Amino acid sequence: MLNAISIDSVSKTYDGGIRALQHVSFDVLENEVFGLVGPDGAGKSTLFNILTSLILPDEGKISMLGYDVVKDYKAIRRMIGYLPGTFSLYPDLTVQENLEFFAVMYESSIRANMRLITPIWKQLMPFKDRKAGKLSGGMKQKLALCCALIHRPRILFLDEPTTGVDPVSRKEFWDILRSIKSQGITVVVSTPYMDEATRCDRIAMIQEGVIFKIDTPANIVRQFQGHLYSFKSENIFSLLQVMESCPLNCIYYPYGESCHIVFYDDISTALPSFQEFMQQNGQNILEITPIDPSVEDCFIEIVKKAE
Ligand code: ADP
Repeated sequence: MLNAISIDSVSKTYDGGIRALQHVSFDVLENEVFGLVGPDGAGKSTLFNILTSLILPDEGKISMLGYDVVKDYKAIRRMIGYLPGTFSLYPDLTVQENLEFFAVMYESSIRANMRLITPIWKQLMPFKDRKAGKLSGGMKQKLALCCALIHRPRILFLDEPTTGVDPVSRKEFWDILRSIKSQGITVVVSTPYMDEATRCDRIAMIQEGVIFKIDTPANIVRQFQGHLYSFKSENIFSLLQVMESCPLNCIYYPYGESCHIVFYDDISTALPSFQEFMQQNGQNILEITPIDPSVEDCFIEIVKKAE
């Protein structure tokens, strides 16, 4: 497969010295769903704004569909679609008027690309005369997606499209992204939700402006090191305090209502040692069970191990 995007050592520092991106390099293949996964402040929007030629990098080079992002930005803007993290529609225009506006702006027509957006547009039809500002969060995202697709871009960028969207709409949105890929469009999407990473063909994990892992979600999970266990405790706060003096070769972190722990030594001795340590320190472990790692476990494990 050919590269849709090649990013070579891109860095960006904002006024005030915040290093938002540090020597970021990776390729996005044509027609894959590529995810940029990382917490708030990791640098995702900065990279998206550079990829869509809204801001300039301080250093580095990006080639997109054979063009240079800085020099050939005009050509590139015609070939990409962008769904930014912030509200991108005209709130006082109706649903229909927004779509028409974007079609005209891109010198395209709704009719020419209706097939591409039909599954999403059908859901918007009952609201076509409603002002965009009055739509629900999920519907706003669907309209913004139609507007970003109406000129049939070759690459679609979506910056945290599901932030603030309810879980059912989130799932539906990802189904739509997969169908967009099936129509030959490369999809580059960022998300702070690790569970969404599994819907991508490949992901890049980013933290503090540094990409520290790029692979398929399945490979990332397969490469997980150590023995992962989940347990509960009567008092998670005092448990975390006690864990600070745990002498075992392990890392641990709160995970929802549980705590996850990764043991790196022989589990037949590590587990009883852990239970003994907990007992000696007055901690009542309610249940402890081995579990398969999620992408989120992999992310935390890599970050914590590097600390
Ligand atoms: P993310 O999209 O992953 O939340 P951002 O790219 O928005 O991350 O931000 C990366 C870092 O750069 C953060 O520390 C953020 O506060 C900072 N930052 C983002 N935009 C600006 C800006 N315009 N000026 C100064 N700092 C910024």
